[in-house]
Amino acid sequence: MQAEIIAVGTEILLGQITNTNSTHIAQGLAELGIDSYYQTVVGDNPVRLAKVIEIAAQRNDLVILSGGLGPTKDDLTKQTLAQYLNVPLVEDEAAMNVINDYFKTTGRTMTANNRIQALYPAGATPLTNHNGMAVGAFYQSPDSADFLLLPGPPREMTKMFEMEAKPKLQAAYGKQSQIYSRVLRFFGIGESKLVTELQTLIDDQQAVTIAPYAKTNEVTLRLSAQADSKASAQQALNTVETQIKAKVGTYFYGYGDDNSLAKVVIKTMIDRQLSITAAESLTAGEFQSTIGGVPGVSAIFPGGFVTYANAAKHQLVNVPQATIDQAGVVSEATAIAMADGARAQLHTDTALSFTGVAGPDELEGQPAGTVWIGLAYPEQPTTAYLYHFAGDRQKIRERSVMAGLDLLRH
Ligand code: ATP
Ligand code: MG
Repeated sequence: MQAEIIAVGTEILLGQITNTNSTHIAQGLAELGIDSYYQTVVGDNPVRLAKVIEIAAQRNDLVILSGGLGPTKDDLTKQTLAQYLNVPLVEDEAAMNVINDYFKTTGRTMTANNRIQALYPAGATPLTNHNGMAVGAFYQSPDSADFLLLPGPPREMTKMFEMEAKPKLQAAYGKQSQIYSRVLRFFGIGESKLVTELQTLIDDQQAVTIAPYAKTNEVTLRLSAQADSKASAQQALNTVETQIKAKVGTYFYGYGDDNSLAKVVIKTMIDRQLSITAAESLTAGEFQSTIGGVPGVSAIFPGGFVTYANAAKHQLVNVPQATIDQAGVVSEATAIAMADGARAQLHTDTALSFTGVAGPDELEGQPAGTVWIGLAYPEQPTTAYLYHFAGDRQKIRERSVMAGLDLLRH
């Protein structure tokens, strides 16, 4: 079962509007398990429209047209289709009543061209327009492709597609095999390294496709399987997930499109009732702002400290002046003192500290990107970790926050 979507409208070709209709319809087809290998856009030109209808009908089982069902001169989709099918246009009584009622209640006079909106190709099933007047149609042909006619305005199209068309498509074609996907999220490994590690799996992929996607500081893999049932898809996805984790499992932290390292880490800490605070120098509150974005964090996060200047490190979290003088502000000793000091101030179970060189200039002879992150954690000595991050000032700060979150994972 294979379908093509044709969006009709010169304004789409000119780039004046975005073709959201095709996107919406494509998603619906995927849900129904109907393959779609082509999408076409054509202007309001009957000759070119007839041409693309012919091409689409030859290479598909179903052709979906959106746009051009209206009353104006450039709306020619159903006329062109009726000509191709060699059937007349007939009037849908229900749609005609809606049009008549509209003109009666608004007190306007109906011009003849408004009747066009109630017409559909003879032999088709008319589809009600719940948000407008132009009727749609589903035409099942014994000897050519089937056709679905939908209006152009997205409000009208989506409602008709969801309420009228989808049930009819499902009834006509049954449930096809569907695509099921799963997103795996990784931190601490770059996209190229991840792909290299998984090269044989990616090369051998058959039942499950593996698509990597890199975002700032993290990589996701989308696994997709086509199957007749959810259970068999899950089984195929599980197998590949296990193979992937055998190679790069240490970098894996969670699932899902709208997940994040902060969400996973904070949720685990909430579950374990581990409270947290932070003393932040170069990140200036960005770590706290990040965890503040996770719903429910208030259960474990009483507050924290932005300790930018040396004096603030001393005043707010009791870093001894001598530590800063002797070890330097970007140092293991200062990071440890900041984490310990923050934890002692707010009596939390854990604390993170961030001190480093965000750049662009070096500090205390250390290059931009040099960052110490301190971790105070129950039942282990407070430890500081040294990083050398690449990138500009903002990247270095972001990477520091992510590295801090990553430390809380272990
Ligand atoms: P009308 O009765 O409003 O004329 P119609 O079915 O004739 O509707 P068109 O004239 O082709 O549809 O388009 C009407 C409006 O709908 C366009 O101006 C545009 O704003 C929107 N539209 C049409 N096609 C699309 C599309 N593929 N994606 C998003 N919006 C669209
Ligand atoms: Mg129109």
